[in-house]
Amino acid sequence: MQLHFLGAADSVTGSRHRVDIGGQSLLLDCGLYQGFKVLRERNWAPPGPELLGVDAIVLSHAHLDHSGFLPAMAKAGWRGRVYASPATCALAEVLLLDSAHLQEEDARRANRYGYSRHAKALPLYTKADARRALAQLVPLAPGRVLPLGPVTVQLHPVGHLLGACAVQVRHGDDSLVFSGDVGRSNDLLMPPPAPLPEAGVLLVESTYGNRLHPPEDVMERLGAIVRDTIGRGGSVLLPTFAVGRAQALLLVLQRLRRRGLIPEDLPIFLDSPMAVAATTLYRKHGALLRVKPAEVRALVDGVRMVETPQQSMRLVRSRYPSVILSASGMATGGRVLHHLKVMAPEPRHHIVFPGFQVSGSRGAKLVAGATEVKIHGAYVPVRAQVSHLEGFSGHADAGELLAWLGGQAQAPRQTFVVHGEPEAADALRSRIADTLHWRVRVPEHGERVTV
Ligand code: ZN
Repeated sequence: MQLHFLGAADSVTGSRHRVDIGGQSLLLDCGLYQGFKVLRERNWAPPGPELLGVDAIVLSHAHLDHSGFLPAMAKAGWRGRVYASPATCALAEVLLLDSAHLQEEDARRANRYGYSRHAKALPLYTKADARRALAQLVPLAPGRVLPLGPVTVQLHPVGHLLGACAVQVRHGDDSLVFSGDVGRSNDLLMPPPAPLPEAGVLLVESTYGNRLHPPEDVMERLGAIVRDTIGRGGSVLLPTFAVGRAQALLLVLQRLRRRGLIPEDLPIFLDSPMAVAATTLYRKHGALLRVKPAEVRALVDGVRMVETPQQSMRLVRSRYPSVILSASGMATGGRVLHHLKVMAPEPRHHIVFPGFQVSGSRGAKLVAGATEVKIHGAYVPVRAQVSHLEGFSGHADAGELLAWLGGQAQAPRQTFVVHGEPEAADALRSRIADTLHWRVRVPEHGERVTV
C-alpha cells in the first residue's frame, strides 16, 4: 500500500491522506487549512493530480478541517463519490454551505474596504461549488462493509462529533485504519469511541498528544463565570463551533438553569444560523447521543435563536446582561467578530473560548493574553476578561488516546501520527514507542511512502 500525506501531517488542519491499495486510490478526508496564514495559503494551491486522480473520497467527519476542501475539488472538476456516515452527510451540508458563504463574504468585504493585497479578491469557492460537492456525498452507515473493487471500506464511530467515525480500509489480509478525530471517553454529548478496529497500518490523530485535559468541572466553571459576569452588569460571549460545541454548551446552560445555578430568566442567544441548523440536526439524530431524549428535546427551551443579520446587529448593540453563543469558534470569521469588536474593549464583559484554539487564530491570540486584536482590518483593544474552558474539548487527550490504542490486540506494522502541532505529534509518537513499543513515526507534509 502507498500513502501520500497531503495535509494535517505537520499541523492540525487540512486533513488529507491518500492511500493507494488494491488498484484503488482513496482520499481519506478532504480538509481545509485553518490557522496561520502560511497554512491557509495552501488552500489556494489548485488541486493537482495527487488529489484530482483519486477514485473516491471517504470522510471521517464533517468538521471543515476534514471536509472543507471538497467544494474546491468540485470547482476543479473532480466528480467522484464522497462516502461518509449519514449524520456526517447531514452536517456537511450545513458546514460546507456556511464555509462557502464565509468565503464569498470575505472576498466581498476585502473588495469593499480594499484591504486585499490582490487587485480583486476572489472567494476560494462559492455556494454553487459547495452544492456541487454535496451532490457527490453518498451515505455509508457505520458498520456496513462497502466494496470498492477488491477493497472494502468500513466506518467505526469514534465519538467526537455527531457522525464522526474512524475509517478502515481492507484489501485481502492487509488493512489500514485512519482514526479521524477521536472523542473523549466521557464527552457531554457523544458516546465513547468504539474499540480501535484491527489495523495493519494506522494513522492516528494527535491534537492533544502532549496534554491531559485538566480535571475541571466545566459546568461548575461556566456557572461561576456567568454569575460573576452578570453580577457586574456584563455579558458572556462564547465564540463557539456551531456544530457540536454549541450543542454541548446549550446542554450545560440548560442544566445550570434547571439546577438554579444561573438565573432562570437570563437571556441566552444562539447567534449563528449554522448553530441553529446544527442544533436541529443534533435533535433529529438524538439516538446517536448519550443524552436522554427528554434533555435532547429541551436543548433549545427558552433559547433565543438569532436568525437574520439585522437581529444580530440589534443584539450587538444591546446593553443588557446575557449569554451569547456565536460562531466561529476560533473567532476567525462570522458574526462573533461583530460581538468581539463591541465587547472586547469593555472590562465588564467576559469572552470565554470553550475548546481548542489553533495556533495563529484570533482565538489563540486572545487566550494567550493579546491586548489588542485585528478585526476587519482594524485593531481593537482587549480589556474584557478572557478565559479558556479546555474541559469542553471534543478530543481525547494523550492518556485517552493511548488507552484507545492499547485496545489493539496486535501491533500495527507501522503507525503514523498525524493531525497535531509538531510538539503534540512528537509527544504522542514517543509515548506510543515507549509504552506500546510500536513502530511509529510522524510523517512529513507531502511525504509519499510505501508500507
Ligand atoms: Zn473534528
